[in-house]
Amino acid sequence: MEFTFPVTYTENPKTRPADESKLGFGRTFSDHMFLMNYTEGKGWHDGRIVPYAPLELDPSCMVLHYAQEVFEGMKAYRWEDGSIHLFRPYENAKRMQNSNERLCMPAVPEETFVEAIKELVAVDAEWVPHNPGTSLYIRPFIFATDAHLGVHASETYLFCIICSPSGSYYPNGMSPVDIYVESRDVRAVRGGTGYTKCGGNYAASLRAGEAAAKKGYVQVLWLDGVERKYVEEVGAMNVMFKVGGKVITPELSGSILPGVTRKSCIDLIRSWGIEVEERLITAEELFEAAENGTLEEAWGCGTAAVISPIGSMGWEDKKISINEGKIGPTAQKLYDTLYGIQSGKVEDSLGWTFKVCD
Ligand SMILES: *Cc1c(COP(=O)(O)O)cnc(C)c1O
Repeated sequence: MEFTFPVTYTENPKTRPADESKLGFGRTFSDHMFLMNYTEGKGWHDGRIVPYAPLELDPSCMVLHYAQEVFEGMKAYRWEDGSIHLFRPYENAKRMQNSNERLCMPAVPEETFVEAIKELVAVDAEWVPHNPGTSLYIRPFIFATDAHLGVHASETYLFCIICSPSGSYYPNGMSPVDIYVESRDVRAVRGGTGYTKCGGNYAASLRAGEAAAKKGYVQVLWLDGVERKYVEEVGAMNVMFKVGGKVITPELSGSILPGVTRKSCIDLIRSWGIEVEERLITAEELFEAAENGTLEEAWGCGTAAVISPIGSMGWEDKKISINEGKIGPTAQKLYDTLYGIQSGKVEDSLGWTFKVCD
């Protein structure tokens, strides 16, 4: 493979985790990382692959004070023949550009973004695990580096990509989760930054997550920030419901993250001849559908889990069970098809996979 970015190989390769069943998520990192700087007037420059190491930052570094930061999340999968593939990486490239625009940051050209990931993953190819369900999680992020406390956009940035071998999300098989409808905290509002992957959104979501966990729930179902009426997302995933034979999912109103998995699910479901409506959905409508027996299935979708079936939903003193707490047929078929395409077991007739190396 020809490299467009200079590579400095590590002189101290780390010991890779021997037991792939104990990888977990986001705790160990591969040997290398990608770095590229931005300087006003000069643009993006000095893209390079270097040994993974701590970064040195000035304490007045803007990102530490005003959170001018965006990130992406994607995975590289090892196929049975050993080759390594990404899933729809240009979708992540475009989404990061949209996040950049909202946060007044310079965009990374799509080709540069995808090439940087491809070359880094190729350098650290041995870090892509082999077991079913495992992957190399890829975390690109850009943050403001000006050493200055003024509240305005930074003039310098760092684009960094790190990789973390991840275990299977479902080591004991896919199982439905209990979720709680959050009526106090909101994740995002229209006009805000909900449609971007910026770090601040996640800091704001932690309290509700902790409160739901105390009540025994695994995830938060977020409501809209204005009327606290319409469902938006579940945890850091998009959400879908099957009601009366149709799939419904919240429309991209500005406070919802446009997931690559969401988009892929919508395409697949429609290709199976099932209608998909993107619209406003009230929590009340869902609880009524559960009562009159038309709420058939619910699931979250995102890169980490692919599909996360929802077994029950609590809202203040009400609690409903969905599909008797079991995985529904649509959720199962989505998981099997999407993960099948990502891992090379199902034919990729839509051209969603992107080969990194053999
Ligand atoms: C990343 C993310 C998603 C899922 O997006 P994918 O591209 O499918 O991984 C959904 N909601 C939030 C809030 C997210 O951060």
